[in-house]
Amino acid sequence: MNQVGRYRRMFSSCAFLLLSVASAVAATVPASNDPAQLLRQAESAQPSDRAEFNELMGRLDQVAMRLSPEQKLHRRYLMARQVAFAGNYDEALPSLTAIADQTADPVLAFRAGATVIDLLVAESRYEEAFTRLNPLLDQLPTMKENGVRMQGLGVAAQLYKEAGQYDASVRYADQIIKESTDAPNACRGWFYRSDALFESGGAQLSVDQLHEGAEACGKAGNTLFSLSFQYLLASFEMRQGRPESAIHVLQGSYPKVLRAGFPPQISQFEATLARAYQKSGDLALAAKFANDALATNANRLYSESTANAYQVLYEVDKKVGNSHGAMANLEKYVVAHDGYLSRLSAKALAYQIVKQQVLAKKLQIDELDKKNKILTLQGELDSKAVETSRLYIALLLLVLASIALWTYRIKRSQLRFMRLARRDGLTGIFNRQHFVNEAERLLRYCRKSARDVCLVLIDLDHFKLVNDTHGHAVGDRVLRRAVDACQAHLRSTDVFGRLGGEEFGMLLPECTLDNVLVRVEQMRAAIAAVSGAKDAPGIPISASFGVANAADSDYELRQLMIDADRALYRAKHEGRNRVSLFGVGMRN
Ligand code: GH3
Ligand code: MG
Ligand code: MG
Repeated sequence: MNQVGRYRRMFSSCAFLLLSVASAVAATVPASNDPAQLLRQAESAQPSDRAEFNELMGRLDQVAMRLSPEQKLHRRYLMARQVAFAGNYDEALPSLTAIADQTADPVLAFRAGATVIDLLVAESRYEEAFTRLNPLLDQLPTMKENGVRMQGLGVAAQLYKEAGQYDASVRYADQIIKESTDAPNACRGWFYRSDALFESGGAQLSVDQLHEGAEACGKAGNTLFSLSFQYLLASFEMRQGRPESAIHVLQGSYPKVLRAGFPPQISQFEATLARAYQKSGDLALAAKFANDALATNANRLYSESTANAYQVLYEVDKKVGNSHGAMANLEKYVVAHDGYLSRLSAKALAYQIVKQQVLAKKLQIDELDKKNKILTLQGELDSKAVETSRLYIALLLLVLASIALWTYRIKRSQLRFMRLARRDGLTGIFNRQHFVNEAERLLRYCRKSARDVCLVLIDLDHFKLVNDTHGHAVGDRVLRRAVDACQAHLRSTDVFGRLGGEEFGMLLPECTLDNVLVRVEQMRAAIAAVSGAKDAPGIPISASFGVANAADSDYELRQLMIDADRALYRAKHEGRNRVSLFGVGMRN
């Protein structure tokens, strides 16, 4: 495959999901203070139009005393949604989940449920998202209000696209187009449709269609979607090997993108511009836009646009002969790309897991149904004792047995999928994505209960030498041995994962910097005792450790990783095969 063929579009997973949260019916601020009308209008306010929304919520505040219990709940839902839109998913999720699961109002439950799915995806909790999608889709036929149906169909179209189920995604997008009663929703339908078709290979997609889509969304006043169409168009041009056309499209909309101010979209434009300039030979502009994308993406380390920006920087450095810079950027590219890819496969696997769960449940219901039939027939048999009925029973029992067998098989492959989605293939410990998810969960728990918890980052020393001298297979064996050596010193509550290459992370609850040292020293010694003689004669095996206490970073995983990485860097710097503890003074 050539470079162009290998080019993948830098579309981030959750970037647009949140936009589907509000129904896109444009609202004008009302003159009346009727609670029902205020709620309706707040519901249809564009999420990006904070001023209008706040104004409506302010008015609702004034009439709070007059709200019925259901209206109060509705107001709570709108507030939680706004909190989510501001990026505070952790804060919004519990109240949205409570509303979705507990309210007696089916429409509100549906809306909250759809928003919960958006947030779960934004937090990479795909399995839960798919689990919630099924009952939501079951509810869809009973939902009559157009805005609500649009929200449900939108979530389905998005989530199926995320899981690589493009046909299903297109079906839901078509449904949106068919049912939409206004231009903004039709625009979203067209976008989902084009997006899924693009991802599936784009054979049915044309530049003209994309132009039309962008124009229709522009006319509908849906700026973000209209810009997304431009982005799709540029990606399409890139895929066709026309970087100049891509630059033309992207540059034409870039000022508008900056004005719209949605960081995931800005970074996509910048990273794609970087790639397009690199392909057309303008290395200076390529590096500029790659750096812009990284700055825009400063807190989204594993997004596709981050990975692509590093790749461009690597290729630029390589081209100008800056081998030191090239190496550094290649390494960052690999880390970002790895993180991004494991998120992609986690999505696809989560879909499979949930699909199988649904199948298993259906089989269980069938089984119950058949059992009931047998009981009824047996009752009849007592009075009639007909031979043919006996035969029928035998047949049913056979069917029952085969259903049981199927259920068993499906359960087994479910477990296998679950393992695949969460484990690193080589060492069997958590993969990066699952480590991050579990670590975040544990950190939340420790923060709430004010417990101590330490993060340990481990990097094997001079590992390249093992590979270079004895080959990758030996390197792999050494990696497994090092993992075994550490595992012997872990407790069941510790979280241990492979972060990439020969780097590992562990989160140890109930550890302070004082007592963690003893345990980590034991691990260091255990790895150093993994004799290289068997696998890699002549090369001593050892690892360096960086340790940081979560209390120093307010239990934020990102900062905690940076702190532990600082300490690890010092351990390397001071001669390797040692443990270094992070101190707040090291931040400067
Ligand atoms: P340092 O002490 O500075 O960490 O030296 P190092 O050689 O370990 O440096 P670096 O981190 O740059 O090299 C990591 C090497 O790990 C590069 C790559 O060849 C190797 N590696 C990464 N993933 C794997 C893997 O899955 N299997 C094997 N065998 N090697 C891997
Ligand atoms: Mg390394
Ligand atoms: Mg190393």
